[in-house]
Amino acid sequence: MPVIRLFKILPRGHRIAIGTLSAAMGLLLLAPTESALASRDQAAASTSQRLDLALEVKDKPVTEDAAAARELVVQVKPGDTLSSIFARQGLPSTLLHDISRLGGEADALKRIHPGDRLTLALDHQGGLRALSYPLDAARTLEIRHRQDGLESRIHSAELENRHRFAQAEVSSNFWSAGVGAGLNPGQILGLAAMFAWDLDFALDIRAGDRFSVLYEESYKDGIRVATGNILAAEFINQGKVYRAVRHEDGNYYSPEGRAMRKSFLRAPVNFSHISSNFNPRRLHPVTGQVKAHRGIDYAARTGTPVVAAGGGVVVESGYSQFNGNYVVIRHDGTYLTKYLHLHQRMVKKGEKVKQEQQIGTVGATGRVTGPHLHYEFLVNGVHQDPKTVKLPQAAILSREELARFRPKAERLLAQLDRISEVMLASN
Ligand SMILES: [Zn+2]
Repeated sequence: MPVIRLFKILPRGHRIAIGTLSAAMGLLLLAPTESALASRDQAAASTSQRLDLALEVKDKPVTEDAAAARELVVQVKPGDTLSSIFARQGLPSTLLHDISRLGGEADALKRIHPGDRLTLALDHQGGLRALSYPLDAARTLEIRHRQDGLESRIHSAELENRHRFAQAEVSSNFWSAGVGAGLNPGQILGLAAMFAWDLDFALDIRAGDRFSVLYEESYKDGIRVATGNILAAEFINQGKVYRAVRHEDGNYYSPEGRAMRKSFLRAPVNFSHISSNFNPRRLHPVTGQVKAHRGIDYAARTGTPVVAAGGGVVVESGYSQFNGNYVVIRHDGTYLTKYLHLHQRMVKKGEKVKQEQQIGTVGATGRVTGPHLHYEFLVNGVHQDPKTVKLPQAAILSREELARFRPKAERLLAQLDRISEVMLASN
């Protein structure tokens, strides 16, 4: 009996769905510069592992069409259109017209690419019974003949989700430890983003820091088609343990149910842009004098994005001989942040800004010897170290949310612990 083998079609790499985490963050824009990547890749993390966990296999559905006499798999060639393919198969142009009138997802057939595969099920007279076209790794467009005309629908394949585990100890820097652990750039940036309110990934990561991550991967027919969200992670920075678990709202929470997102980021620049050989300067770069340094310097290339550490109102956006282009944000009655030596300012005085909104770019304006961001954090008018300053507590999940979050968080963290122990013991 002829069977339309919709599910034997291999996923096409260029359409693989990216995990929602990386997509949401616009990670490609944040990806490290090539030079930074090159230098970071030189030294791989000393201990890094990943592990396959239990998998859940679901039966694949099978579609059958008893009326179909044969099926034909057509590979799209350069220059092909649905029209030219139909003409080659001797299918009538009225069919093309009917398909184009379906609209919706069927419009994907107007954008077929060389290398794509169309599966055609034909009847004994050579007429089209059904057509299938994979839209991405998980979804297939199906068009079939019904008595009253054509019908289109999307068939979603059952994906098999596997939990995966990665862990590493930082030996040179966080980026290479992540790569060594088998994480992709999106996951490395995602992991840093989870803890960006607790840790300054640009300046505070040390050799000996460790992290472990539990994440999802989607498989179809045994082939990995997507890397999903990080489910739970632990980061041990200079002996201090930070843990986070993903909740069903897509946000990360501490095991107690407190939001990882807090009112201030620990660093207003992404770690992936920071020169790793940077040493905080104690001598003023121009005068050579030791001066009371009231801020943190982030050495980064001119043009690197600078974001607001927290939401607030721009109270100054200007230029001065010493500060160069600078921006000052008032967050509420208590907190004020300053960003100096900017190349570009992207906000005006009086403007409201959101946390993580880009306010300018790193530059070398004012009294400096090289491009860097000078960042200051003031609490009630007094300079504080933004890395250690006590900040307002993050919001906690509501009682009902917490009741749903807790058991899942405990299960995931137990899983994380168990595998961490096994991996460490096997070292
Ligand atoms: Zn400075």
